[in-house]
Amino acid sequence: MKVIDCGKVNPASGCGHVIRAETEQELLRLAAEHAGTHNLEPTPELMAAVKGHIEEEPA
Ligand SMILES: [Zn+2]
Repeated sequence: MKVIDCGKVNPASGCGHVIRAETEQELLRLAAEHAGTHNLEPTPELMAAVKGHIEEEPA
């Protein structure tokens, strides 16, 4: 399982949302979707920051 903690990517948001997906592709899709809830565009810079915070979680 791949995991992204929104609050770690963007600490200023104070967001506790955690995104989980089986694949990086799906994870990034969900992250881009979640960015919309923060009124953020999924820019290449933002998605690079997201990728840098992907964590592996044992199944
Ligand atoms: Zn968030």
